[in-house]
Amino acid sequence: MKPMMPALRRSVTALLSAALLAPFAACAQTAPATPAKKPVVVVVATGGTIAGAGASSANSATYQAAKVPVDKLIAGLPELADVAEVRGQQAFQIASESFTNEKLVELGKSISTLLKDPAVDGVVVTHGTDTLEETSFFLNLVVRTEKPIVLVGSMRPGTALSADGALNLYNAVVLAGTPSARGKGVLVMMNDDILSGRDVAKRVNIKTSAFGSQWGPLGMMVERKAYWFRAPVKRQGMTSEFDIDRITALPEVAIVYGSGSMNTSLVPAAVSSGAKAIVHAGTGNGSVPNYGVDALRQARTAGLQIVRSSRVADGFVLRNSEQPDDKYDWVVAHDLNPQKAKILTALALTKGVSSAELQRMFMEY
Ligand code: GLU
Repeated sequence: MKPMMPALRRSVTALLSAALLAPFAACAQTAPATPAKKPVVVVVATGGTIAGAGASSANSATYQAAKVPVDKLIAGLPELADVAEVRGQQAFQIASESFTNEKLVELGKSISTLLKDPAVDGVVVTHGTDTLEETSFFLNLVVRTEKPIVLVGSMRPGTALSADGALNLYNAVVLAGTPSARGKGVLVMMNDDILSGRDVAKRVNIKTSAFGSQWGPLGMMVERKAYWFRAPVKRQGMTSEFDIDRITALPEVAIVYGSGSMNTSLVPAAVSSGAKAIVHAGTGNGSVPNYGVDALRQARTAGLQIVRSSRVADGFVLRNSEQPDDKYDWVVAHDLNPQKAKILTALALTKGVSSAELQRMFMEY
């Protein structure tokens, strides 16, 4: 092609720019700039290290969790006002190892109520890190919403040098107000990573990089922007068959931990304690020792559901491998760790499901 003369190219460029910019110039004259409305985000505080305080800035690991009330957390982070209209609600003030089924149900109901308010765009839950993975999975299964629910914690108290809570909370509030976070299930915002509440787990107990998932994060938050790389495929939120508005209590599910020379008398102890199911955190592929099979079969005969999960952090338990699940009428937890398997089993039992239905749920959620 013959090259355009420089002068001609300049005038063509000028004409094109004028034509392209004209509509914007017209807009600028007619529409006065209005500041974009900030999303409304409610921070529901439950305690944990993110609300913790230590004796000195050198105390990064020895401190008291659950000390700082939500109003102070929000007031201590004025940057939040740049990104959202933030309201605080103090649900509990506890370390998360002290969460109970009753507290889970109460928290789920109050978040469900908050998100039914059309004025609320998203919810952030500040939480201790110890059982954050249980709460995130529970909320993921029972709160019927497309709006973002973001759980966040910290590994160092706010009083420590290089505390991680401030940026985690800031990122969580941004995420809860981000339209692209809708419909992705409950999210966990930790250490710049956006993780799925379904399969996130605390994998390190003493580093700020504590949380991960064997399937990787969904994305990352960098300078107020969420970058997504994958999306969950399992049922959650609006596609879940569970609904917190219909749940009043969760039945007891016991976890029995497998090991070499394990104490199998814990199985009948779980039965007589009134547990309605046992999650067996077995070795390897959810294996059960030859001297432990009878106790689990008797528990099944007594009416308890038996769920084989694994004490191994990654991978997934294969049905009818290592143990004849069809023959024993047992269920496998698939890739859910024992504590998450306990949550799904408890929810399933609120519907009085058969072992076949329970197995279906483990494949779908
Ligand atoms: N164990 C406490 C809790 O889970 C503190 C740990 C933390 O939040 O990081 O709430």
